[in-house]
Amino acid sequence: MTRTRAKDLFPVPDLMKARRILCVQAHPDDGELGAGATVARLTREGAAVIYLTVTDGGAGTRDPAVRPSELAAIRRRESEEAAALLGVTEMIWLDFPDSGCPELRAVREKIFETVRRVRPAVVMVMDPWLPYEAHTDHRITGLAAAEAVLLGGYPHVCPRDQAAGLAPHGPEAIAFYGTSRPNTFIDVTATWPRKLEALSKHRSQFPPEKLKTISDYLTLKAREHAAGRGFELAEAFKVLTPFQLHFFEDAWRC
Ligand SMILES: [Zn+2]
Repeated sequence: MTRTRAKDLFPVPDLMKARRILCVQAHPDDGELGAGATVARLTREGAAVIYLTVTDGGAGTRDPAVRPSELAAIRRRESEEAAALLGVTEMIWLDFPDSGCPELRAVREKIFETVRRVRPAVVMVMDPWLPYEAHTDHRITGLAAAEAVLLGGYPHVCPRDQAAGLAPHGPEAIAFYGTSRPNTFIDVTATWPRKLEALSKHRSQFPPEKLKTISDYLTLKAREHAAGRGFELAEAFKVLTPFQLHFFEDAWRC
């Protein structure tokens, strides 16, 4: 008799089978950085991908002369251009102030509401448990999205949504990008150029020299993720089911 390990009772869902995905990001360029080539592949294969951006991106500059409201407007246009290249069909903006230490409760309510309206099979978001992640926007956004996947199907959690006519909805899985504990490696060799092109649309964030550095880093990383898997370039995710998001000590090993 073969011995089954406890963690193997819960197989990792196949991210590429999802047909409706909500891609949550703290800032207007996070989705492209962490998952752009996978988003492009998903939409190319017929999936609907909806973007939800939590902050307005208005703090993304070192230049004190740039006004946050002006930068936010610029970044929204850049993000729309990038998302269009990736085949994203809808953009939702929550417009919390960038780097303003958003309150978890407020972000959580908005993400629950969006999950119940959009009703995705899978939510993508940055991994809030990335060691040494110093950006509060990233941690809060990742935590709130994870909780929406865990509890979105429970009517007494964020009950105001029901009064607004939104039925509970529990997505099947969450896919964390920007993770140090990946369990899923998506072959994105074909859509990699599209990701880099989408990144180049974020001109306010990536002037030419910085764009080259970040593109080189991401490409090397994608080669590392793909090594030994029979393809050239991969994006890496930690994919978990709602069951694995709570009181599950094997989650970090899955
Ligand atoms: Zn960010």
